[in-house]
Amino acid sequence: MSESQDCLFCKIIAGEIPSTKVYEDETAYAFKDINPKAKVHVLIVPRRHYANVAELAKADPAELAHIAEVAQSIADKEFHGAYRLVFNTGLDAGQTVFHVHAHVLTGEKLDE
Ligand code: AMP
Ligand code: ZN
Repeated sequence: MSESQDCLFCKIIAGEIPSTKVYEDETAYAFKDINPKAKVHVLIVPRRHYANVAELAKADPAELAHIAEVAQSIADKEFHGAYRLVFNTGLDAGQTVFHVHAHVLTGEKLDE
């Protein structure tokens, strides 16, 4: 079985596991985090499977830039363009799903 066949976020992108869609286009999908850490907490994923942000940056830097643009557009709608963008990378940094995802935290003033 390939890595992506066993991947929670690949299944969400494929519609095999339900999610609350926030945005989608040909290469990216954004959905609400099931356990929000801010008033608005969205995850943005590339449709193609990469394990982490470094793999994505190496294989497809334009897609990483695209994810940053999608984050900005979500925050423009939700909170005058202010947001925090986080890529947890590695088990010891709290990464639990090994399909790269940007956490977009916005919708309210965030703690420093
Ligand atoms: P990380 O810990 O950086 O790998 O982030 C994984 C995130 O995925 C966590 O914030 C979880 O709350 C979130 N998550 C896990 N399962 C789901 C799901 N089925 N739908 C939406 N978000 C999820
Ligand atoms: Zn995946």
